[in-house]
Amino acid sequence: MSDPGPLVGEPLALDLVNTRNADGDHLATPQALRGWLDLEAARFPDVRDLAVSDAGLAAVREVREHTARALECVRRGEQPPQEALDALNRAQRAAPAISELAWDGAAATATRRRAGSAADRLAAWLAEAAAELLADPAVTTVRACEADDCVTLFLPAHPRRRWCAAARCGNRVRVARHYQRQKSVGEK
Ligand SMILES: [Zn+2]
Repeated sequence: MSDPGPLVGEPLALDLVNTRNADGDHLATPQALRGWLDLEAARFPDVRDLAVSDAGLAAVREVREHTARALECVRRGEQPPQEALDALNRAQRAAPAISELAWDGAAATATRRRAGSAADRLAAWLAEAAAELLADPAVTTVRACEADDCVTLFLPAHPRRRWCAAARCGNRVRVARHYQRQKSVGEK
């Protein structure tokens, strides 16, 4: 099976955690990070033009690590490591956001912007997304895909969702089970 890349379309913090999956690490290089940011561009417009450096990559991977560690506990209703929470708070504090006002000719607009280096801004947006997910009561419904070889996490919109995506894992597992059944019938 060709690598379909990381799943996107879950809450941003889950998409971030899901960039490391059974296929490997999809944020291994600055170019890979740029590709992922392009996929997510609509969700945090402020990063659209950010230059991605090694420092940015390191900052994003650190936020991912702390988000994943905190999420593993919080989604089970357990206390997360304080160190992970501290790191996510620190990342946000390094590039505080303001609602930047402008006049577009007819109305005032307010655009959320952050101050700081490109790496700090990127990390801060993602750490904020992590804070939103971790503090959302729905976080306890986050679950992992049921396919044995898939570790992708998702927030089910309906309680019966079992796969990260039917086209990735649902169909694959159904086909495998079908062949398994055929095989065991044939052996009798
Ligand atoms: Zn899956």
